[in-house]
Amino acid sequence: MTAEVADAARAAGRSPADITTIVVTKFHPASLVRELAQLGVTDVGENRHQDAGPKAAELADLALTWHFVGQLQSKKARPVLEYASVIHSLDRASLVTALAGERPDPVDVFLQLNLTDDPGRGGVAENELDVLVDAVLGASGLRLLGLMAVAPLGEEPRAAFARVRAASERLQKSAPEATCLSMGMSGDFREAVLEGATHLRIGTAITGNRPAAG
Ligand SMILES: *Cc1c(COP(=O)(O)O)cnc(C)c1O
Repeated sequence: MTAEVADAARAAGRSPADITTIVVTKFHPASLVRELAQLGVTDVGENRHQDAGPKAAELADLALTWHFVGQLQSKKARPVLEYASVIHSLDRASLVTALAGERPDPVDVFLQLNLTDDPGRGGVAENELDVLVDAVLGASGLRLLGLMAVAPLGEEPRAAFARVRAASERLQKSAPEATCLSMGMSGDFREAVLEGATHLRIGTAITGNRPAAG
């Protein structure tokens, strides 16, 4: 996968060093994450606190960076901070309140943009982004890295990611340091890299499919 990402970066005229690949290990046991770490993986992503918490605890001896990429309930927000150092799915003011706090090292956050018209998909609607940005910039203990999005079904991924890039350019007028873009998964990371992705969230292309239950 490292080679594929490097190829995608070169095809986009970008440096592979500017792209962080997060291996999304949801559905997979701690043992697989440990093997990935032995192969040099440093960044792992999880989408459910119930699964991620025990895995992170079991793997606390490894120097992994844990990224939380799934929808987050406000009451789970603080427990997630016990292991995750990056939250990709901040999408509402109540979560900002839940995550904010005085701490020595700020938590890195991405604001998730909803690219669909379905509010149930997770992410803030683009017309509500400014208000959320102000909330994050006014909160303590949070460092805004940029925007995160999932390309919707039924839209060409490159076009979807171009919309995120445009929103990011607007965001940078009020938050000049929030230049990162968390976008691109197994099926569309090349398009994401062409539109400036800095953080790819890759699951199945690295881990294989969800293991059978049992
Ligand atoms: C599962 C997941 C991914 C990885 O998806 P793949 O298609 O398996 O690469 C990326 N982002 C989020 C938010 C996910 O839930």
